[in-house]
Amino acid sequence: MRKVRKGDRVKIVSGEDRGKVGKILQVFPEKNRVLVEGVNIVTKHQRPTQAVREPGIVKREAPVHVSNVKVVCPECSVPTRLAVVTVENQKLRRCKQCGATF
Ligand SMILES: [Zn+2]
Repeated sequence: MRKVRKGDRVKIVSGEDRGKVGKILQVFPEKNRVLVEGVNIVTKHQRPTQAVREPGIVKREAPVHVSNVKVVCPECSVPTRLAVVTVENQKLRRCKQCGATF
């Protein structure tokens, strides 16, 4: 069970982007990485292709390791560690701070 999901708000806890908060755009379970909106921006040199006619430099997010993010609890807004609990056969995350499940 992955503790992070697409759409979660997370806070970056290490690296250059420490302190930034963003939404998870994509999860890469096999790599334990997540793509977070506005975080870990890298510059890529784009070659013209069929899809992208404009060559040049583009800036885009690169995935960060899940150990570098903490999910921000939607209830208490505290970046927290999560416990995974099963409620009525549904796996939910529980905030260790306020006890809310989501
Ligand atoms: Zn909470």
